[in-house]
Amino acid sequence: MKKLIRGLDKFRQKYVTTHQELLEQLSHGQTPRVLFITCSDSRVAPNLITDTDVGELFVIRNAGNIIPPYGAANGGEGGTIEYAISALGIEQIVVCGHSNCGAMKGLLKLNKLQKDMPLVYDWLKHAESTRRLVEENYSHYKGEDLIEVLVAENVLIQIENLKTYPMVRSRLHQGRLKIYAWIYNIETGNVLAYDARTHTYIPPEGQLIEEDETVRSFVTCGDTRSLEPIKKELEALLKVTPQTPSAAEEVTESLMTLFDRARRMGMNNIELQNYHSLFSESVQLWAETIYSRA
Ligand SMILES: [Zn+2]
Repeated sequence: MKKLIRGLDKFRQKYVTTHQELLEQLSHGQTPRVLFITCSDSRVAPNLITDTDVGELFVIRNAGNIIPPYGAANGGEGGTIEYAISALGIEQIVVCGHSNCGAMKGLLKLNKLQKDMPLVYDWLKHAESTRRLVEENYSHYKGEDLIEVLVAENVLIQIENLKTYPMVRSRLHQGRLKIYAWIYNIETGNVLAYDARTHTYIPPEGQLIEEDETVRSFVTCGDTRSLEPIKKELEALLKVTPQTPSAAEEVTESLMTLFDRARRMGMNNIELQNYHSLFSESVQLWAETIYSRA
């Protein structure tokens, strides 16, 4: 405790004196651009790892970076999410798990927890999908590898839970909200971000954070109009029938880039899926064409 009290003094002397303008400005209100949802673990420091300042991150922390599905619990999570989106106008959410997560380890010994730490047990029940998914699909994983998989899958499952909130759902549909899955590695300080296309976690460069203009232009123009050019491009490219394997590869690559751009610009999932199935049909046609020529 002494360390903390001394810290308060040090903070005032070192930080407050050099950031007076910022703090004065913030005293009138906050405009954080990102809702950062992460674990309570003391080794994860959101502002430190993202090199962000006071006022930049709106944070939810709990054991296991868990978001109970809408209506499943009356904790602070739901209200905080609603406030972040509705009152603060936040358009980007990061759900950040981390290596070596104690909560994820707890998932592996739920029965014991029920007796020893009943409240932790109740809380971790909101990650039951994570436990079952990993148990039934990654049974060959052991030790640290198993924890790693739990952490990775849990972030994705909690994002699914996040999507059960009406406000989140609606903003996603409007293209006014982006959700990112991150994993922070305690030992190396590295962050990996989930890439839906490859279903892997990769370095997040280029993925985050959306340029302000992109998000803003959406809010003002609405997605239907600003997506028109990209739809035209997609449709034109989907009509092409490549005659050689290398040409097919090239067209595929261009399409993937376009899909990516469309997603980033907020094309809704149904529309994206439609284009994806058109693409799958085309690929079959291409294969037939290429093989018949061979
Ligand atoms: Zn943790």
